[in-house]
Amino acid sequence: MKNKIWLSSPHMGGSEQKYVQEAFETNWIAPLGPNVNGFEKDLENYLGEDSKVACLASGTSALHLALILSDVVLGDEVICQSMTFSASANPITYQGAKPVFVDSEHDTWNMCPVHLENAIKTGIAKNKKPKAIIVVHLYGMSAKMDEITAIAKKYKISLIEDAAEALGSTYKGQKCGTFGDFGVLSFNGNKIITTSGGGALVCKTEESKQKAIFLATQARDNAPHYQHSEIGYNYRMSNVVAGIGRGQMEVLDKHIDLRRGMNQFYQEIFKDTEGVEVFVEPTADYYSNHWLSCIVVDNKITGFNREHLRLKLLEDNIESRPLWKPMHLQPVFKNSKYFGNLVSENLFINGLCLPSSSNLIKEDRERIQSCFSKII
Ligand SMILES: *Cc1c(COP(=O)(O)O)cnc(C)c1O
Repeated sequence: MKNKIWLSSPHMGGSEQKYVQEAFETNWIAPLGPNVNGFEKDLENYLGEDSKVACLASGTSALHLALILSDVVLGDEVICQSMTFSASANPITYQGAKPVFVDSEHDTWNMCPVHLENAIKTGIAKNKKPKAIIVVHLYGMSAKMDEITAIAKKYKISLIEDAAEALGSTYKGQKCGTFGDFGVLSFNGNKIITTSGGGALVCKTEESKQKAIFLATQARDNAPHYQHSEIGYNYRMSNVVAGIGRGQMEVLDKHIDLRRGMNQFYQEIFKDTEGVEVFVEPTADYYSNHWLSCIVVDNKITGFNREHLRLKLLEDNIESRPLWKPMHLQPVFKNSKYFGNLVSENLFINGLCLPSSSNLIKEDRERIQSCFSKII
């Protein structure tokens, strides 16, 4: 059996172990320490816009804290992009709130501003104004942030950007994760940089960063004994894994270039194949990290569907995966409200994510290429 080609695998740069070693040598084996502070500074410098970053245990915990800091409580409604990973929506239910799902638009595959405004107006008409909006930058592509931020401002609703897949991507030159009231990053094993597991909350003010850290470290009041006036969480990042993050920051831009190279590679493969579209930036306003490269297959033109391609790749031990199944189609969210049409559903039916790791070598690419040339 040939070695497995993964969709997205970890790719270490070299100095990660140096920072981890430092943590051991100085005995900072705790959910605080110089690596956590250093990784936060690195991220703040990288994102710009005077961002304040709190490093956490996961992207999911960052989303949960963003909802708490947006005052989402029992019985509230929160608008969430339907086409996404379930982790975007699950924290809404942790708060006892209800998700209201919104369809995507064709250009970016992210939240459709028209359906978003419709969902807000419908909520307001029923005396149920949504408490927050969770917009996602799927596969590294920014959502239409001019329109989305304008709507959030107009209705004065907290905007949470799930940028778990979009570290390093920009819209009109501004980094994803810095547009909303809160931004969410993930350093899970499959993301563009990884700490094996981890995440971060991007805040607009030092005050909300400190509040996030307070909640993430069990909400201890300022007293010599353990005293609590609020419910806390154990969501802080470990100083050991933060060392991996510091090393990864040194190679982030290089790895983005390599992932973008994978996207070019697929554009080349499919340039003469009618009915197969590679997902690319709709205009020069967008710069995607191309965390995953994706295609959409129109089987009426090609004569084969995305599942055929997926199975053919699998025969050669190459991993690919359908696009995210929209949340409004998930059994667990079957009773949730939905605003939209069939954009995300059709993307799910016809779309496929392809191997996109930054560490794929020439032989890997040749295997992928020859697999496709047998079919197209
Ligand atoms: C990975 C991911 C998350 C969750 O991040 P974790 O660090 O795994 O908790 C949330 N949203 C999206 C869109 C993701 O891809």
